[in-house]
Amino acid sequence: MTKSIATAMVAALTAMTVYAGAGMLGGAADAAACAEAEGAECAAACPGDCDGDGAVRINELVLLVRVALDLEELSACAGSDRDADGSISIEELIAAVDGSLNGCPVVIEFTGFEADDVLALADDDLDGRDNDTPGSAAARQYIIDQIRGFAAGLDSGASGDDAYLQPFDRGTNVLGVIPGGELADEYVIVGAHYDHLGGCSGVCNGATDNAAGVAAVLAIGRSIAAIGTPPRRSVVLAFWDREEDGLLGSSYYVNNPPVPLADTIAYLNFDIQGANLLPSLRKFSFAVGAETGGDLLLDAVAEATARVDLDIRRLSQIFGQGRSDYVWFIRRQIPTVFFSDSTGPCYHTAADDVSVVDFDKLAQQSESGFHLTYMLTETDTPPSFAMAPLVVFPDATRVLDVIDAAVASDLDLFGPTDRAALLDFQSDLAAVVAEGEANFGDDDIGALAAGVAGVITNLSNVPCDGFLEP
Ligand SMILES: [Zn+2]
Repeated sequence: MTKSIATAMVAALTAMTVYAGAGMLGGAADAAACAEAEGAECAAACPGDCDGDGAVRINELVLLVRVALDLEELSACAGSDRDADGSISIEELIAAVDGSLNGCPVVIEFTGFEADDVLALADDDLDGRDNDTPGSAAARQYIIDQIRGFAAGLDSGASGDDAYLQPFDRGTNVLGVIPGGELADEYVIVGAHYDHLGGCSGVCNGATDNAAGVAAVLAIGRSIAAIGTPPRRSVVLAFWDREEDGLLGSSYYVNNPPVPLADTIAYLNFDIQGANLLPSLRKFSFAVGAETGGDLLLDAVAEATARVDLDIRRLSQIFGQGRSDYVWFIRRQIPTVFFSDSTGPCYHTAADDVSVVDFDKLAQQSESGFHLTYMLTETDTPPSFAMAPLVVFPDATRVLDVIDAAVASDLDLFGPTDRAALLDFQSDLAAVVAEGEANFGDDDIGALAAGVAGVITNLSNVPCDGFLEP
């Protein structure tokens, strides 16, 4: 609290005393006067108890202080009663006055998660959201309806809902922007593909792949917008089409970017979220490729993921296997992180439905993504693209922890052949880790990448189950 605010507070409280001393807190005459007046006018007519009910309510108090300070903006910081307990504490009053003098206090809170996003996008009515179908159009409309209130369309040449659309060959990306403040010409892109397979063995609703990723991006957008003051940099919300046909929507975007790639400081990709590979891996998730933004991005990911009760492991980009929209951004040398639970037993089957979504996990992944997004919008020094080794020693230790957990609890979910392969990989990997970082070499890199690819393949043989908390 600065000195000038302290002085203003004293003036305000003195003014209140004067009003009270003059018998102006309440009374039928005041109530009658208030009936004729509204807002600041009302406060001027009868400061204090505007409605004459004998009590000074929060809004009345705020109006009173506003009149005393001759400030127009005080009630704009509507968070006066921040704990919503119906009364305003001295701290809350100070925050309201401080906000009116210095801008409303910024509250960084994750508020935007809606499980309904997944339910709506994975609904049977959308028929698996295959591109160029009525279900796909319905998914787009749903997304636009969600973001219209806080994000502008990225196509400034179009109007209405069309401004959110980026059509390409038999596909349409949905793009919105939350305009930044001081550095509005720099962008953080947060993206997820909204398309899925349509039919596979039945209707494939793609709940974790990738209605859940879309829900994460929507949650991040809502939460950024709810902060109240614009983020320093602009945030682009990107919903890609035709990912399932070969990452086509995101490819089109980087070849036809509505905002310059050179001013895009980071891309965050969410694909397959709220999914459990095995019962023992409920808390595990992966953040792939952060080394593309050097230590700055690696550290930011560590900080953001530490804010939730999940074990989100950083792994080098090779472990993403080039299987999602993030690849084009790395090729354009944009620092990129790919958040994924990896492909598991329900991958690309009709059983990837809302019943297997771990909503608590998804909410936490969204929250972690929000904190990372916000850090990137605000940071003085954005990450710059960095070349890194394909695989580093910490990848080996991080993967080994995951394998150890799976072997300890879930070995019987694998058939005999896959079980033997898993145990072989575990012992090979344990040997690599035991040899230490100094002895970590090219042969280990190949074995690690191949071993992980083998596990991912064998996970598709495990019976599909969400492995939700019993
Ligand atoms: Zn997919």
